[in-house]
Amino acid sequence: MTVYLVGAGPGDPGLLTVRGLELIRSADVILHDKLIPWEALREARADAELIDVGKIGGGKQVPQDVTNALLVEKGQEGKDVVRLKGGDPFVFGRGGEEAQVLRAAGIPFEVVPGVTSGIAGPAYAGIPVTQRHVSAAVAFVTGHEDPSKPDTMLDWAALAAFPGTLALYMGVKALPRIASALIEHGRHADEPAAVVQRGTLPDQRTVTAPLGELPDVAKAAGIKAPAIIIVGGVADLHDEIAWFEDRPLAGKTVVVTRAKAQASALADRFRALGAAVIEAPAIGISPLPVDLPDLSSFDLLCLTSPNAVARLFELIRDARDLAGLKIAVIGPGTASALRDRGIEPDIVPERFVGEGLLEALEGVDVRRALIARARDARDVLPDGLRARGVEVEVLTTYEAVAEPLRDGVREAALEADYVTFASGSSGRYFFDAVDGARPQGRIVTIGPTTSGVLRDLGVEPDVEAEVQTPDGLIAAVLADAAQR
Ligand code: SAH
Repeated sequence: MTVYLVGAGPGDPGLLTVRGLELIRSADVILHDKLIPWEALREARADAELIDVGKIGGGKQVPQDVTNALLVEKGQEGKDVVRLKGGDPFVFGRGGEEAQVLRAAGIPFEVVPGVTSGIAGPAYAGIPVTQRHVSAAVAFVTGHEDPSKPDTMLDWAALAAFPGTLALYMGVKALPRIASALIEHGRHADEPAAVVQRGTLPDQRTVTAPLGELPDVAKAAGIKAPAIIIVGGVADLHDEIAWFEDRPLAGKTVVVTRAKAQASALADRFRALGAAVIEAPAIGISPLPVDLPDLSSFDLLCLTSPNAVARLFELIRDARDLAGLKIAVIGPGTASALRDRGIEPDIVPERFVGEGLLEALEGVDVRRALIARARDARDVLPDGLRARGVEVEVLTTYEAVAEPLRDGVREAALEADYVTFASGSSGRYFFDAVDGARPQGRIVTIGPTTSGVLRDLGVEPDVEAEVQTPDGLIAAVLADAAQR
């Protein structure tokens, strides 16, 4: 029974601390702000109580005393409570006040610091807040206080005289007043400055300008909160060492339509290239009941997808049951699913489709073949083997099922820059889930079979991968993005 004041970091879910994640995973109750990575909440227990104290119905902020009362109430119930805040809980996060309230109520608490946006935003913009020979100090300043008001808590003369970098939080609206107050008190109008909007998030944007021009430049660029304002010579380093916004898919939104089980690997790779990824799994995998035949009566086993591999290993009791069989797979993804389970495939075709596998099996001595695959898979392989006099048994181990898209996902997917299809069935299910609506972005398929399915649905793909693998799909998106 402890209340944990946890910093969730600036937005990139990877910047949540290990301790923070551990506590989120075990919490009974999570009271969270609005500016936290939503991926963090996905880690909560299914039965955890999630309370959004950031906003009331998308409107005003929940008053601090209501949040305090909730913390005390949940703490007194003896629950493990995580109070999840953006950035660091003690940097303009009111975490200190919450700790005071908990101490007064006699409720045990711990503080888990987080990566604060005033360091992380600039860092992702290629702006180190300190730098040898440039800046030997950094001040974290609230920009929330109106410098023109007489009762401001901030000493603008002292801030202007501060010998180092200023990192201003909550200052976008007041930027014109902040810049003039600093210049009026002696900061040079030519001093380098920058604003980093939505730092560490896929749509991060940075503008730089001399302090005197920054308000106009930021306004022209449409910069909005949340953003960090940096004043100091270090802002010049952006031009030299920016990295996050320079990644090949930075600023692009990519939709991954694969089934959930397979989507995350592909999604992670698009993310690593800088894209904002929307996972829109309109297709789910449902295992089918199967009576596994006596495997020793076959001499060839064909596996046509990673799902088929996963399902087969649920069905066999002992991996040694596969010992006498030659194993053929349709492509590298299926091969690696098999390798993950300690088995090296004998045959991997050069073209990763049914026809390719059939070619690769030419000259292989086969009498009885077992094909484990999805319902609705194409019959190229069984038909081709039968035509060669092979006795074929098809084992339908799973089927694809429609999954409705979550609220908001459908709309976001239709507005994205790229919508990717790694199989014909994900195409069919996706266009079903969006009621045939036409996405605004570029449509990318993994190969001709998938393109064919889309054309049958009346959708002409814009890009087709040359190599029919997830790598090929990614390469196709990269090549297209580079040209536009
Ligand atoms: N405790 C938080 C700050 C909360 S105050 C922290 O340590 O980061 C809210 C202000 O933080 C915003 O107005 C903005 O100035 C800044 N901020 C939060 N997230 C940000 C982000 N991803 N990029 C830029 N600024 C951010």
